[in-house]
Parts: sequence; structure tokens; C-alpha cells
Amino acid sequence: MKKLINTFAVLTLLFAGFNSCTQDDSTTSINDEISNAVLEQIKALGFGTDNVIKEDDHYIVEGDIILHKRDLEEGAHKQTLLRIAGVEQYHTFNLVTGLPRTIVVTTSGSGITTRLSNAINGAIARYNAEGLGLTFVRGGTSGGGNINIRVVNTRQYIASAGFPTSSGNPYGTISYAKTYASNTYSENFMTTVVAHEMGHCIGFRHTDWMNRSYSCGGSAVNEGQSTTGVGAVLIPGTPSGPDSGSWMLACLSATTNRPFNNNDKTALDYLY
Ligand SMILES: [Zn+2]
Repeated sequence: MKKLINTFAVLTLLFAGFNSCTQDDSTTSINDEISNAVLEQIKALGFGTDNVIKEDDHYIVEGDIILHKRDLEEGAHKQTLLRIAGVEQYHTFNLVTGLPRTIVVTTSGSGITTRLSNAINGAIARYNAEGLGLTFVRGGTSGGGNINIRVVNTRQYIASAGFPTSSGNPYGTISYAKTYASNTYSENFMTTVVAHEMGHCIGFRHTDWMNRSYSCGGSAVNEGQSTTGVGAVLIPGTPSGPDSGSWMLACLSATTNRPFNNNDKTALDYLY
């Protein structure tokens, strides 16, 4: 999930000056460290190539989406219809399969504050309230779940995750930035962030991926039309007009709470 600004005063300032709220201002030159070949692969996958972050053995695009090298290599082998539309609900080609299915959400490492822990429970409850074919349960604190949440010390994003695997499993890790696990932020905010990242893990793309300025401010930036790679497939029954409340919007503010709205529920119900 995209960069959150600490105060409203700074929020206004940065929204005015940056294309998106994705990164700290220190990351504007990140692209210099990433080869053109890799950027071409990212582009071929259908993602935007602005402000790509290199971290460990992977890249982070669109603010919070992890791409591994195998994702880049697989990108050239997939084809689908190009979809251009307004602000709607989109999913990746890969989805979680084997429904009905229980997804265990664990944590690991230090830094899981009480509030963040409560938020994880809150996010699980939001999904489970929808009566989906996926049931989320809270696991232990030593990792090993289908989705494991860990706190990381980064200033480059609020949280990050990836998309389901080609074998139909959810993406296995959510990294949550330490800064945003503090009591400075509300439990509803944290719940929204965790639910958003869980959304990526089960195959949701950003609702406003085709123009993230909708939620991020700044100039219009298309995160990428996925004619190849992970895909951006329209979910039937979701609106063609802007949906200001969707939990899968790319950016949020320090006080944002986005429980599932009716369109989100339609999208969730359609997929799962
Ligand atoms: Zn996101």
C-alpha cells in the first residue's frame, strides 16, 4: 500500500509535489539502480516503471506489489485481452484455488504491536463476514501460515505483498512497515492496510491501477495494463465509474478507514 503521510499538513504538501504518495522523497532516484532490461520486463508484465524499488531479491512496483525474478521471467509467456476502463475492480490471472479453503494468517518476528495484532484480527473479520469460500483464521506468532505478516523497518512503503502463485496459493508474505504499527495510527487504519494487502495476496489489483492519481493525487499515472504477466481482469458487476470507498484503492491517508463497500463485496463474492 502506498506511502502514508504522517500529518495532514505534510499530506497536502506532498500530494501537491509528487506524482503519487508511493514513496518517501528519498526514493525518487531509485530507478537509477535498476537496469533498463529489468524495467522492460516490469513494463512487459503490465506494471508501471516509475519509482520501482529494489529490495532483497525482488522488486516493488505500484507502491506495494512484490515481483520476484520468476515473475519477470514468466511475464513474456502469458497473453490476454487488453482492458482499458475507468475505476473498477480487477483481479490477477492467478487466484487462490481449492475452495472452500481455510487460509491461516500468522505473524513472525518482533514489532507486531497490540494495535497491529488487533488490526490483523479486524481484517480477518472483515473477510469472514462476507461468507466467502475463503475462511481466514489467525495462526501463531512463529510464522508458517499461508499468509505470514512481519514488521519491517522501511520508509519506502506502508506495507507490501504479492499476488497468488500459479499453483493457486495466496501470496505468502505481507511486510508491514514499523512506522505504521505505532499508536500514532488508528486500529481502523491498520485494519484497512492489512485487509488491502490480504486483497493482493488473494489476487486483487488496485481499483485505480489505470489512473492511481484517483486516490494518490498528483498527475495521472497508469500502473500498467496487464496484457501479459499477472493480469488485470475486470470483475463483472463492478462499476465503470469512480469508487471512492474501495479498499483496493492505491493510496490512503493517515486516518483512512475503508471497510468493504457494496462494490468490494460484489467483487469478493464473484471471485470467492
Ligand atoms: Zn496495494
